[in-house]
Amino acid sequence: MTMADTNRQDALRYLFERVVAPLGFKFTPDEELAAFLLEQEVKLEQDHGAPFCPCQGRTGVRADDMKIVCPCIPFHREHFDRMRRCWCGLFVHKDVTDPGSLPQFPPDEA
Ligand code: SF4
Repeated sequence: MTMADTNRQDALRYLFERVVAPLGFKFTPDEELAAFLLEQEVKLEQDHGAPFCPCQGRTGVRADDMKIVCPCIPFHREHFDRMRRCWCGLFVHKDVTDPGSLPQFPPDEA
């Protein structure tokens, strides 16, 4: 990992924090997971032009793919609010202290 990659991760961290906080989310307290996912996002940004979600597949249809550019919370908010985390677990509700305990379920399940 280069210095530029590290700087970009820090920049994304700074930007994302400001986007997700008003939505009631924060970075996961699992620092190792956060660092890993941000590293993946920087690679995706370098290869595909945007920090796409590391855990959701791109379709190749731009309008769809733009809904999985991180942080994708506004597009999946109802679902993520029910899980109290995003798909990857990069973000969790602000009051979450034990992210490993949160359940994950598909969007069509309440
Ligand atoms: S699921 Fe999480 S990590 Fe993935 S794009 Fe959405 S907010 Fe980002």
